[in-house]
Amino acid sequence: MLEQARLAGYQRMETPVFEDTGLFARGVGQSTDVVQKEMYAFVDKGGRSVSLRPELTAGVVRALIQHGRIGAGLVKVAFSGPSFRYERPQAGRQRQFHQVDVEAIGSPDPATDADVILVGHEIFRSLGIDVSLMLTSLGDAECRPAYRERLLEFLRGLGDRLPAEVRARAEQNPLRVLDMKDPRVRELTAGAPLIRDWLCAPCKAHDDTVRSLLAEAGVGWVDAPRLVRGLDYYTRTTFEWQAGALDAAQDALGGGGRYDGLSELIGGPSAPGTGWALGLDRTVLALERAGRLPEPPAQLQAMVLPLTPAARGVALTLVRDLRRAGLAADQPYAERSLRGHMKAAARAGARVVVLLGDDELAAGQASVRDMAAREQGQVPLDAVAARVAEIAAGPPDAGPPDPDDRGAAP
Ligand code: AMP
Repeated sequence: MLEQARLAGYQRMETPVFEDTGLFARGVGQSTDVVQKEMYAFVDKGGRSVSLRPELTAGVVRALIQHGRIGAGLVKVAFSGPSFRYERPQAGRQRQFHQVDVEAIGSPDPATDADVILVGHEIFRSLGIDVSLMLTSLGDAECRPAYRERLLEFLRGLGDRLPAEVRARAEQNPLRVLDMKDPRVRELTAGAPLIRDWLCAPCKAHDDTVRSLLAEAGVGWVDAPRLVRGLDYYTRTTFEWQAGALDAAQDALGGGGRYDGLSELIGGPSAPGTGWALGLDRTVLALERAGRLPEPPAQLQAMVLPLTPAARGVALTLVRDLRRAGLAADQPYAERSLRGHMKAAARAGARVVVLLGDDELAAGQASVRDMAAREQGQVPLDAVAARVAEIAAGPPDAGPPDPDDRGAAP
């Protein structure tokens, strides 16, 4: 995923896993579930309230402000790391989860929205996961307040028909009521006013441009006029990638949008920005469902087997030389039969087994066995690394090595 971001000119960065609690309260928004219910906030030994980050964008913008990188043109950054939310754990919803984050800060140009979306699109394309891009605009400080009032009026008009907790939510953050999953609420709000009909002319033009750019680049989307997302900082372009193959509770693989007011909200200069975060854990679930989870790469290229006590020092020197040559090499740390050793080497995925018996030691050589080709030959000790490298660089395994294949007697 990060390679796709690198190809698009995003630089790597890292931010701390905890920040001043006020950063998230101001940045993510007091009225959000994330801040009200899900933050791991605690007081440190200096009496400061700090929080494990519930998301990545606020920390990125804070860091760029602090290091004077805001206002100096467009900054494109990407990274991955854990985020923390005190949620009820279930499949695809953990209290510590991993996100990949892509942010473009410093430009109001709709082309930057299209750029961050395109990076995500290419990521899902390269993974082979089928997703829908749900796309909307949430307007800005010009047009959203009037719309918010209008929507609140509508929701109040529903009176007791809305459950009490939904009415309370409406008073705090009426837009959030629109993307609630409860079918009753959905039905009652079917005729609610939608922000797309209330966008001011600049927001409308911005939205139109994003859509036409995406269309030209071959990125499809689903119009999602009720999409709001759980963070308060979004303005204008807002989107989410949904995987149809997963249950509704965890079908959002990632999402993001534009956050033009965020920098000022947390005490920085004015700096428009746009970006997204993608959930790694859910992406892994989606890959599993699609039967596309890749096998983990083999851990070892070579297993070195000292077959007599006298060979142990030579074995240690050989693994050292193999590692210096950039080859992953190890040796067993237990007494076993030769058959047991070969099995263990096969389990470890070793492409090559290096055998050191009495005969080999006497000749200053080692037997080097290509586990896939089932071929074995003797090589002088100082040529073992080169021979292992040659085998490891050869054509891929014909299949998993046969653990019962003991090879020629050493
Ligand atoms: P958000 O930061 O809310 O925009 O979420 C971005 C993505 O992070 C979501 O689409 C999920 O894939 C992932 N995510 C958010 N919360 C969790 C969680 N509690 N457990 C696992 N993944 C999560």
